[in-house]
Amino acid sequence: MIEINGGFGEGGGQIVRTACTFSAVTGQAFRLFNLRANRSKPGLRAQHVTSVESAAMLVDAETRGVAEHSVQFSFAPRNRAEAGDYGFGIRTAGSAVLVLQTLYPILALTDRLSRLEIKGGTSVPFAPPGIYLEQVFAPMAARMGWGGSIAEPEVGFAPIGGGLIWSLVGSADPLEVHLDGSQPSETEWIWRSSGIPESVAEKASRLIADQFGQTLKVENVKAESSGGVLACIARATESAAPAGFTALAERGRPMEKLIASIQRQVETWRSAGGLDPHLADQIVPLLALTPGNHSFVASEVTEHLETVLELIPIFSLGTYELNRETREVGIHSTRMS
Ligand code: ATP
Repeated sequence: MIEINGGFGEGGGQIVRTACTFSAVTGQAFRLFNLRANRSKPGLRAQHVTSVESAAMLVDAETRGVAEHSVQFSFAPRNRAEAGDYGFGIRTAGSAVLVLQTLYPILALTDRLSRLEIKGGTSVPFAPPGIYLEQVFAPMAARMGWGGSIAEPEVGFAPIGGGLIWSLVGSADPLEVHLDGSQPSETEWIWRSSGIPESVAEKASRLIADQFGQTLKVENVKAESSGGVLACIARATESAAPAGFTALAERGRPMEKLIASIQRQVETWRSAGGLDPHLADQIVPLLALTPGNHSFVASEVTEHLETVLELIPIFSLGTYELNRETREVGIHSTRMS
Protein backbone atom coordinates (compact mmCIF):
# COMPACT_ATOMS: atom_id res chain seq x y z
CA MET A 1 0.00 0.00 0.00
CA ILE A 2 1.47 3.36 -1.06
CA GLU A 3 1.42 5.87 1.81
CA ILE A 4 0.79 9.46 0.68
CA ASN A 5 0.93 12.57 2.82
CA GLY A 6 -1.97 14.62 1.45
CA GLY A 7 -0.44 17.84 2.78
CA PHE A 8 2.34 18.11 0.20
CA GLY A 9 2.42 20.73 -2.56
CA GLU A 10 -0.95 22.32 -3.17
CA GLY A 11 -2.29 20.08 -0.42
CA GLY A 12 -5.83 19.99 -1.79
CA GLY A 13 -8.37 17.88 -3.61
CA GLN A 14 -6.18 17.40 -6.65
CA ILE A 15 -4.04 14.87 -4.75
CA VAL A 16 -7.17 12.94 -3.80
CA ARG A 17 -8.54 12.79 -7.34
CA THR A 18 -5.27 12.09 -9.15
CA ALA A 19 -4.31 9.37 -6.67
CA CYS A 20 -7.65 7.63 -7.36
CA THR A 21 -7.09 7.85 -11.13
CA PHE A 22 -3.54 6.51 -10.93
CA SER A 23 -4.54 3.76 -8.52
CA ALA A 24 -7.55 2.67 -10.59
CA VAL A 25 -5.45 2.41 -13.76
CA THR A 26 -2.37 0.77 -12.24
CA GLY A 27 -4.13 -1.36 -9.62
CA GLN A 28 -1.81 -0.07 -6.86
CA ALA A 29 -3.48 0.48 -3.50
CA PHE A 30 -2.81 3.67 -1.50
CA ARG A 31 -3.55 5.31 1.80
CA LEU A 32 -3.82 9.07 1.90
CA PHE A 33 -3.50 10.88 5.22
CA ASN A 34 -3.33 14.48 6.39
CA LEU A 35 -5.59 15.41 3.54
CA ARG A 36 -6.67 18.94 2.81
CA ALA A 37 -5.04 19.65 6.18
CA ASN A 38 -4.32 23.32 5.52
CA ARG A 39 -7.81 24.18 4.26
CA SER A 40 -10.29 26.13 6.39
CA LYS A 41 -12.58 23.06 6.31
CA PRO A 42 -10.10 20.16 6.31
CA GLY A 43 -10.87 16.69 5.02
CA LEU A 44 -12.98 15.41 2.16
CA ARG A 45 -15.85 17.50 0.78
CA ALA A 46 -18.85 16.22 -1.20
CA GLN A 47 -17.07 16.53 -4.56
CA HIS A 48 -14.05 14.55 -3.31
CA VAL A 49 -16.24 11.85 -1.75
CA THR A 50 -18.08 11.41 -5.07
CA SER A 51 -14.78 11.30 -6.96
CA VAL A 52 -13.38 8.59 -4.69
CA GLU A 53 -16.58 6.55 -4.48
CA SER A 54 -17.21 6.62 -8.21
CA ALA A 55 -13.59 5.68 -9.03
CA ALA A 56 -13.90 2.90 -6.43
CA MET A 57 -17.05 1.63 -8.11
CA LEU A 58 -15.31 1.39 -11.49
CA VAL A 59 -12.55 -0.87 -10.15
CA ASP A 60 -14.42 -2.50 -7.27
CA ALA A 61 -11.97 -0.93 -4.82
CA GLU A 62 -12.06 -1.69 -1.14
CA THR A 63 -12.12 1.67 0.62
CA ARG A 64 -11.88 2.73 4.26
CA GLY A 65 -12.61 6.14 5.72
CA VAL A 66 -14.31 7.73 2.71
CA ALA A 67 -16.77 10.24 4.17
CA GLU A 68 -17.18 14.00 4.31
CA HIS A 69 -14.61 15.66 6.66
CA SER A 70 -12.47 12.51 6.76
CA VAL A 71 -8.75 13.40 6.78
CA GLN A 72 -7.53 9.97 5.75
CA PHE A 73 -8.78 7.09 3.64
CA SER A 74 -7.51 4.06 1.79
CA PHE A 75 -8.29 2.77 -1.69
CA ALA A 76 -7.43 -0.74 -2.90
CA PRO A 77 -8.64 -1.74 -6.40
CA ARG A 78 -9.74 -5.36 -6.83
CA ASN A 79 -10.54 -5.29 -10.58
CA ARG A 80 -9.83 -3.44 -13.77
CA ALA A 81 -12.43 -0.96 -15.01
CA GLU A 82 -14.87 -2.13 -17.63
CA ALA A 83 -16.66 -0.04 -20.21
CA GLY A 84 -20.34 0.63 -19.54
CA ASP A 85 -22.97 3.27 -18.91
CA TYR A 86 -22.20 5.10 -15.70
CA GLY A 87 -23.97 7.90 -13.85
CA PHE A 88 -22.91 9.63 -10.64
CA GLY A 89 -24.10 12.70 -8.80
CA ILE A 90 -23.08 15.23 -6.17
CA ARG A 91 -25.87 16.46 -3.95
CA THR A 92 -24.24 19.90 -3.53
CA ALA A 93 -22.93 22.35 -6.12
CA GLY A 94 -19.52 20.62 -5.78
CA SER A 95 -17.79 20.30 -9.13
CA ALA A 96 -19.13 17.47 -11.30
CA VAL A 97 -16.44 18.44 -13.80
CA LEU A 98 -13.66 17.46 -11.41
CA VAL A 99 -15.38 14.11 -10.84
CA LEU A 100 -15.52 13.60 -14.60
CA GLN A 101 -11.82 14.39 -14.91
CA THR A 102 -11.05 11.75 -12.27
CA LEU A 103 -12.94 9.03 -14.15
CA TYR A 104 -12.18 10.03 -17.73
CA PRO A 105 -8.68 8.46 -17.96
CA ILE A 106 -9.86 5.27 -16.22
CA LEU A 107 -12.66 4.68 -18.74
CA ALA A 108 -10.67 6.00 -21.71
CA LEU A 109 -8.18 3.16 -21.22
CA THR A 110 -10.81 0.41 -21.47
CA ASP A 111 -11.33 -1.25 -24.83
CA ARG A 112 -14.87 -0.06 -25.61
CA LEU A 113 -16.82 3.21 -25.39
CA SER A 114 -18.42 4.18 -22.09
CA ARG A 115 -21.10 6.74 -21.46
CA LEU A 116 -20.42 8.78 -18.37
CA GLU A 117 -22.81 11.29 -16.79
CA ILE A 118 -22.15 13.33 -13.67
CA LYS A 119 -24.71 15.61 -12.05
CA GLY A 120 -23.74 18.52 -9.82
CA GLY A 121 -22.07 21.89 -10.20
CA THR A 122 -20.68 22.28 -13.71
CA SER A 123 -19.76 25.97 -13.70
CA VAL A 124 -18.63 26.76 -10.18
CA PRO A 125 -15.67 28.61 -8.65
CA PHE A 126 -12.22 26.99 -8.26
CA ALA A 127 -12.88 24.28 -10.86
CA PRO A 128 -12.87 24.13 -14.64
CA PRO A 129 -16.26 25.26 -15.98
CA GLY A 130 -18.01 22.81 -18.33
CA ILE A 131 -17.32 25.13 -21.24
CA TYR A 132 -13.58 24.75 -20.56
CA LEU A 133 -13.83 20.97 -20.69
CA GLU A 134 -15.85 21.09 -23.90
CA GLN A 135 -13.74 23.65 -25.71
CA VAL A 136 -10.24 23.13 -24.33
CA PHE A 137 -9.68 19.92 -22.37
CA ALA A 138 -11.65 17.60 -24.71
CA PRO A 139 -10.06 18.87 -27.96
CA MET A 140 -6.64 18.64 -26.31
CA ALA A 141 -7.30 15.10 -25.07
CA ALA A 142 -8.55 14.12 -28.54
CA ARG A 143 -5.41 15.53 -30.09
CA MET A 144 -3.34 13.44 -27.66
CA GLY A 145 -5.11 10.28 -28.85
CA TRP A 146 -7.48 9.96 -25.87
CA GLY A 147 -10.54 10.43 -28.08
CA GLY A 148 -14.03 10.80 -26.73
CA SER A 149 -16.22 13.83 -26.42
CA ILE A 150 -17.42 15.96 -23.52
CA ALA A 151 -20.48 18.21 -23.29
CA GLU A 152 -22.31 20.24 -20.66
CA PRO A 153 -25.98 19.82 -21.68
CA GLU A 154 -27.30 21.38 -18.45
CA VAL A 155 -25.36 23.98 -16.55
CA GLY A 156 -25.05 23.70 -12.76
CA PHE A 157 -24.27 27.06 -11.18
CA ALA A 158 -23.91 27.68 -7.44
CA PRO A 159 -25.70 27.50 -5.06
CA ILE A 160 -27.94 24.66 -6.31
CA GLY A 161 -25.74 22.87 -8.85
CA GLY A 162 -27.94 20.26 -10.54
CA GLY A 163 -26.16 20.55 -13.91
CA LEU A 164 -24.97 17.70 -16.08
CA ILE A 165 -21.60 16.99 -17.63
CA TRP A 166 -21.47 14.13 -20.05
CA SER A 167 -18.78 12.16 -21.84
CA LEU A 168 -18.50 9.38 -24.38
CA VAL A 169 -15.08 7.88 -23.79
CA GLY A 170 -13.08 4.70 -24.43
CA SER A 171 -10.64 2.83 -26.68
CA ALA A 172 -8.01 5.52 -26.26
CA ASP A 173 -4.84 5.18 -28.28
CA PRO A 174 -2.66 7.78 -26.55
CA LEU A 175 0.28 9.35 -28.33
CA GLU A 176 3.62 10.75 -27.27
CA VAL A 177 3.20 14.51 -26.87
CA HIS A 178 5.72 17.25 -27.65
CA LEU A 179 4.52 20.82 -27.46
CA ASP A 180 6.75 23.85 -27.77
CA GLY A 181 5.50 27.22 -26.54
CA SER A 182 3.39 27.93 -29.67
CA GLN A 183 -0.02 29.47 -29.08
CA PRO A 184 -3.02 29.93 -31.38
CA SER A 185 -3.42 33.54 -32.48
CA GLU A 186 -7.23 33.64 -32.88
CA THR A 187 -9.59 33.83 -29.91
CA GLU A 188 -13.36 33.59 -29.58
CA TRP A 189 -15.59 35.06 -26.84
CA ILE A 190 -18.57 33.12 -25.47
CA TRP A 191 -21.21 34.07 -22.86
CA ARG A 192 -23.15 31.04 -21.54
CA SER A 193 -25.87 31.98 -19.09
CA SER A 194 -29.25 31.24 -17.56
CA GLY A 195 -31.68 33.61 -15.84
CA ILE A 196 -29.51 36.70 -16.38
CA PRO A 197 -31.21 39.62 -18.16
CA GLU A 198 -30.63 39.94 -21.91
CA SER A 199 -29.23 43.43 -21.30
CA VAL A 200 -26.12 41.87 -19.68
CA ALA A 201 -25.33 39.88 -22.83
CA GLU A 202 -25.96 43.00 -24.92
CA LYS A 203 -23.55 45.00 -22.79
CA ALA A 204 -20.91 42.27 -23.02
CA SER A 205 -21.31 42.16 -26.83
CA ARG A 206 -20.86 45.93 -27.04
CA LEU A 207 -17.78 46.00 -24.79
CA ILE A 208 -16.09 43.09 -26.60
CA ALA A 209 -16.79 44.66 -30.00
CA ASP A 210 -15.41 48.04 -28.83
CA GLN A 211 -12.34 46.72 -27.02
CA PHE A 212 -11.29 43.81 -29.22
CA GLY A 213 -13.29 44.21 -32.44
CA GLN A 214 -14.72 40.71 -31.84
CA THR A 215 -18.22 39.23 -31.88
CA LEU A 216 -19.55 37.61 -28.70
CA LYS A 217 -21.28 34.26 -29.11
CA VAL A 218 -24.30 34.21 -26.77
CA GLU A 219 -25.68 30.89 -25.47
CA ASN A 220 -28.81 30.72 -23.31
CA VAL A 221 -28.92 27.48 -21.37
CA LYS A 222 -31.09 25.51 -18.94
CA ALA A 223 -30.03 25.74 -15.29
CA GLU A 224 -31.56 25.37 -11.82
CA SER A 225 -29.63 28.32 -10.35
CA SER A 226 -29.21 31.42 -12.47
CA GLY A 227 -25.66 32.24 -13.48
CA GLY A 228 -23.29 33.04 -16.30
CA VAL A 229 -19.82 32.22 -17.49
CA LEU A 230 -17.79 34.39 -19.84
CA ALA A 231 -15.06 32.58 -21.76
CA CYS A 232 -12.29 33.50 -24.15
CA ILE A 233 -11.24 30.40 -26.09
CA ALA A 234 -8.21 29.97 -28.35
CA ARG A 235 -8.81 26.97 -30.59
CA ALA A 236 -6.01 24.55 -31.37
CA THR A 237 -4.08 24.93 -34.60
CA GLU A 238 -1.79 22.35 -36.16
CA SER A 239 1.16 23.57 -34.11
CA ALA A 240 -0.52 24.95 -31.00
CA ALA A 241 -2.65 23.58 -28.16
CA PRO A 242 -6.02 25.14 -27.31
CA ALA A 243 -6.37 27.48 -24.33
CA GLY A 244 -9.26 28.91 -22.36
CA PHE A 245 -9.86 31.69 -19.86
CA THR A 246 -13.10 32.09 -17.97
CA ALA A 247 -14.84 34.27 -15.39
CA LEU A 248 -18.06 33.50 -13.55
CA ALA A 249 -20.77 36.13 -13.17
CA GLU A 250 -21.36 37.30 -9.61
CA ARG A 251 -24.05 39.57 -8.28
CA GLY A 252 -22.60 43.10 -8.06
CA ARG A 253 -19.61 42.31 -10.29
CA PRO A 254 -19.97 44.40 -13.45
CA MET A 255 -19.32 42.92 -16.89
CA GLU A 256 -16.32 45.27 -17.26
CA LYS A 257 -14.65 43.39 -14.39
CA LEU A 258 -15.31 39.97 -15.92
CA ILE A 259 -13.80 41.10 -19.20
CA ALA A 260 -10.82 42.73 -17.48
CA SER A 261 -10.13 39.57 -15.46
CA ILE A 262 -10.05 37.47 -18.63
CA GLN A 263 -7.98 40.05 -20.47
CA ARG A 264 -5.35 39.92 -17.70
CA GLN A 265 -5.22 36.10 -17.88
CA VAL A 266 -4.86 36.20 -21.68
CA GLU A 267 -2.07 38.81 -21.52
CA THR A 268 -0.11 36.84 -18.92
CA TRP A 269 -0.47 33.67 -21.01
CA ARG A 270 0.55 35.45 -24.23
CA SER A 271 3.63 37.09 -22.74
CA ALA A 272 4.86 33.81 -21.21
CA GLY A 273 4.13 31.42 -24.12
CA GLY A 274 3.06 27.80 -23.63
CA LEU A 275 -0.04 26.06 -22.31
CA ASP A 276 -2.62 27.92 -20.26
CA PRO A 277 -1.96 27.33 -16.55
CA HIS A 278 -4.98 25.06 -16.03
CA LEU A 279 -4.42 22.87 -19.06
CA ALA A 280 -0.81 22.37 -17.94
CA ASP A 281 -1.84 20.61 -14.73
CA GLN A 282 -4.83 18.85 -16.32
CA ILE A 283 -2.89 17.04 -19.07
CA VAL A 284 -0.26 15.66 -16.68
CA PRO A 285 -2.30 12.60 -15.59
CA LEU A 286 -2.93 11.74 -19.25
CA LEU A 287 0.77 12.00 -20.11
CA ALA A 288 1.81 10.06 -17.02
CA LEU A 289 -0.43 7.20 -18.15
CA THR A 290 0.93 7.18 -21.73
CA PRO A 291 4.17 5.20 -22.05
CA GLY A 292 6.91 7.31 -23.66
CA ASN A 293 8.70 10.62 -23.34
CA HIS A 294 6.60 13.77 -23.38
CA SER A 295 7.42 17.44 -23.23
CA PHE A 296 5.52 20.70 -23.03
CA VAL A 297 5.96 24.30 -21.96
CA ALA A 298 3.62 25.74 -19.32
CA SER A 299 2.85 29.46 -19.27
CA GLU A 300 3.10 29.32 -15.48
CA VAL A 301 4.47 26.83 -12.95
CA THR A 302 1.51 26.57 -10.59
CA GLU A 303 1.35 24.65 -7.33
CA HIS A 304 -1.24 22.41 -8.98
CA LEU A 305 1.25 21.54 -11.72
CA GLU A 306 4.04 20.79 -9.25
CA THR A 307 1.74 18.69 -7.11
CA VAL A 308 0.38 16.50 -9.86
CA LEU A 309 3.89 15.94 -11.24
CA GLU A 310 5.03 14.73 -7.83
CA LEU A 311 2.41 11.97 -7.92
CA ILE A 312 4.11 10.37 -10.97
CA PRO A 313 7.09 8.89 -9.05
CA ILE A 314 4.89 8.17 -6.03
CA PHE A 315 2.87 5.75 -8.20
CA SER A 316 6.06 4.50 -9.94
CA LEU A 317 4.66 5.67 -13.26
CA GLY A 318 7.99 7.15 -14.29
CA THR A 319 9.96 10.33 -13.75
CA TYR A 320 9.58 14.00 -14.57
CA GLU A 321 11.71 17.11 -14.99
CA LEU A 322 10.55 20.64 -14.37
CA ASN A 323 12.63 23.66 -15.31
CA ARG A 324 11.18 26.52 -13.27
CA GLU A 325 12.92 29.19 -15.35
CA THR A 326 11.96 28.06 -18.85
CA ARG A 327 8.78 26.37 -17.57
CA GLU A 328 9.60 23.28 -19.62
CA VAL A 329 8.19 20.00 -18.37
CA GLY A 330 9.43 16.54 -19.36
CA ILE A 331 7.54 13.38 -18.40
CA HIS A 332 8.99 9.91 -18.93
CA SER A 333 6.19 7.46 -18.44
CA THR A 334 7.08 3.82 -17.97
CA ARG A 335 3.54 2.62 -17.39
CA MET A 336 3.05 -0.89 -18.72
CA SER A 337 0.36 -0.58 -21.36
P1 ATP B 1 -9.23 22.25 -2.72
O1 ATP B 1 -10.54 22.86 -2.25
O2 ATP B 1 -8.70 21.27 -1.77
O3 ATP B 1 -8.23 23.25 -3.22
P2 ATP B 1 -10.49 21.18 -5.08
O4 ATP B 1 -10.84 19.75 -5.06
O5 ATP B 1 -11.61 22.15 -5.04
O6 ATP B 1 -9.45 21.36 -3.95
P3 ATP B 1 -8.18 21.76 -6.66
O7 ATP B 1 -7.36 20.69 -6.09
O8 ATP B 1 -7.84 23.16 -6.34
O9 ATP B 1 -9.70 21.54 -6.39
O10 ATP B 1 -8.16 21.54 -8.26
C1 ATP B 1 -8.82 22.41 -9.10
C2 ATP B 1 -8.61 22.02 -10.56
O11 ATP B 1 -9.44 22.91 -11.32
C3 ATP B 1 -7.22 22.21 -11.11
O12 ATP B 1 -6.96 21.21 -12.07
C4 ATP B 1 -7.26 23.57 -11.79
O13 ATP B 1 -6.37 23.71 -12.88
C5 ATP B 1 -8.69 23.58 -12.30
N1 ATP B 1 -9.25 24.93 -12.46
C6 ATP B 1 -9.55 25.82 -11.47
N2 ATP B 1 -10.05 26.96 -12.01
C7 ATP B 1 -10.10 26.76 -13.36
C8 ATP B 1 -10.52 27.56 -14.47
N3 ATP B 1 -10.99 28.79 -14.30
N4 ATP B 1 -10.39 27.05 -15.72
C9 ATP B 1 -9.90 25.82 -15.90
N5 ATP B 1 -9.50 25.02 -14.91
C10 ATP B 1 -9.59 25.47 -13.65
